[in-house]
Amino acid sequence: MTSERPGSTAAFPPAWPRHRRKSLGQHFLIDGRIAGRIVTAAAPAGADTVLEIGPGAGALTRRLVAAAGQVVAVELDAALADALPQRLGYPANLSVICADARNLDIAGAVGVQSYKVVANLPYYAASPIIRRFLEAAPPPQRLVVMVQREVAQAMTAPPGAMSLLSVATQFYAAASVVTQAPPRAFRPAPRVASTVIKLLVRPAPAVSVPDRDAFFAVVRAGFTAPRKQLRNSLMLGCAAPAAAVSAILDTAGIDGQRRPATLSLAEWAALDAAWPKDLPRQRNGQ
Ligand code: SAM
Repeated sequence: MTSERPGSTAAFPPAWPRHRRKSLGQHFLIDGRIAGRIVTAAAPAGADTVLEIGPGAGALTRRLVAAAGQVVAVELDAALADALPQRLGYPANLSVICADARNLDIAGAVGVQSYKVVANLPYYAASPIIRRFLEAAPPPQRLVVMVQREVAQAMTAPPGAMSLLSVATQFYAAASVVTQAPPRAFRPAPRVASTVIKLLVRPAPAVSVPDRDAFFAVVRAGFTAPRKQLRNSLMLGCAAPAAAVSAILDTAGIDGQRRPATLSLAEWAALDAAWPKDLPRQRNGQ
């Protein structure tokens, strides 16, 4: 048995993969304390199904199989996927799927309505994978995921520092930071710092909108020029004339001199509601 000290990088995980596919963002977690915090934030219970994306050498998986009812691990690298069960001693509650999480049949993979997602995500695909799960049917109860620090900051940002990614994330989930992970927490060390975030998926979106695509078209238009005033950014992003944008802002009760980053989700919903049906929301006519 390997002994593992909190925060130690020794003997964690027990065996390293011989090969490494850089293009798949393979930076393996070697800090046991951070792995512990990820699993604690996921709070897997005996009845839970946990979907892990990118198990790699099993740094998180071996903790998950010890705590959860079922673990479904989705790994794109066939060599790592094949080696995982043996690496972990063939746990009875582990199933491994060799697939790309970006186009996984989620319902087929988990086989239940209620599940949690845990992942140390590859940087190159973190945002599309998270988006896919937030929009999935069924969505997970929660996601506990390691992402690049800047992505985590955007996803968890409060009004004043929000971006399109903040709105898109917080529309579906309450987002918070679990812990930071410096480059030395991985082998090989990445060039960037990482953060673990927790996304508690809401039973219903944070704001009620009649048409999600139309709502996000307004938000995208509003963030066309994030450093400009909202009025100017909206005018650049949609095909509407200045007078029409002013009327929309007035109806929504929003000062057009504000920056797009300062709007709350409720204010974006108010803009959406104030938008006349016959007025395009984006330059391409959406
Ligand atoms: N979970 C391991 C850990 O914490 O040490 C490995 C994390 S590593 C950052 C990312 C893992 O995701 C790698 O094992 C990589 O092969 C896998 N991966 C990369 N792209 C993927 C994709 N599109 N779908 C599923 N797995 C992917």
